[in-house]
Amino acid sequence: MVNKKKRIVVKVGTSTLTNELGNSNLRTIDKLAMVLSDIQNLGNEVILVSSGAIAVGANKMHLPEKPTTMRMKQAAAAVGQCSLMFLYDKFFGEYDKTVAQILLNAEDIRQEEKKENLTNTFNALLEQGVIPIVNENDSVSYTEIESQERLFSDNDVLSAVVSVLCQADLLVILSDIDGFYDKDPRLYKDAKLISRIENIDSSVYELAGGAGSRRGTGGMRTKLQAADLACAQGIDTIVTNGKDPEALYDIMKGLKVGTLFAGKRI
Ligand code: ADP
Repeated sequence: MVNKKKRIVVKVGTSTLTNELGNSNLRTIDKLAMVLSDIQNLGNEVILVSSGAIAVGANKMHLPEKPTTMRMKQAAAAVGQCSLMFLYDKFFGEYDKTVAQILLNAEDIRQEEKKENLTNTFNALLEQGVIPIVNENDSVSYTEIESQERLFSDNDVLSAVVSVLCQADLLVILSDIDGFYDKDPRLYKDAKLISRIENIDSSVYELAGGAGSRRGTGGMRTKLQAADLACAQGIDTIVTNGKDPEALYDIMKGLKVGTLFAGKRI
């Protein structure tokens, strides 16, 4: 049976794109590019939301540690965004795909006119078979880098905003963990994966711990916020592990992978 073609947004976090040493995880980036290209070859439309600019930039600049001041974070983001797009262009290019860079900040979504321009740009790119790669404009939107509660929180919420804007059928958030558990598996060995969640209420939020891994910044709470936003607009959201991007093939077949937050039937 041939599945209906889908518009899918895939979000990938810093912890998937870099390794333990903070260097680019080339094998995963290459695999991700291959799988997403394949999924597009099957007639689907693909948008990638990618974090990682600050980490990749800090590494490229040989900074001894993750930058802490705003000016250094923004400088690292400017260097890293360029490196990251170079890598994506190279890997997607090998699979005969063209990518485009879209950098956003909060105002771009709040203003009606900008929002409309943005939607038109996405639609034009997708019509042309281009894969848009989206990131927060970290070198400009300092309020988000600075504040504890960054608006887009390592792009989890940004990926949901993009899904809604583009009326996607599916949002997949690739993380450093297999899905959403009944408690933080890094703290509790007996944590159990929850494969489907119908309603993201306060009892679900209570299961998410604080901010996530050393390299990631969002944690599960911001993934829940993202799923909440997308599901409210009828968009199914899946949280799963990014270490094996081939899981995306199973997701496209409708198989059970990670945690599915069911979109409201509207
Ligand atoms: P990414 O960089 O992929 O966005 P994060 O490190 O920001 O990943 O968030 C994932 C982390 O959230 C997990 O590694 C885990 O330690 C933490 N976490 C907290 N509560 C939960 C939960 N209930 N289920 C799964 N992970 C959880």
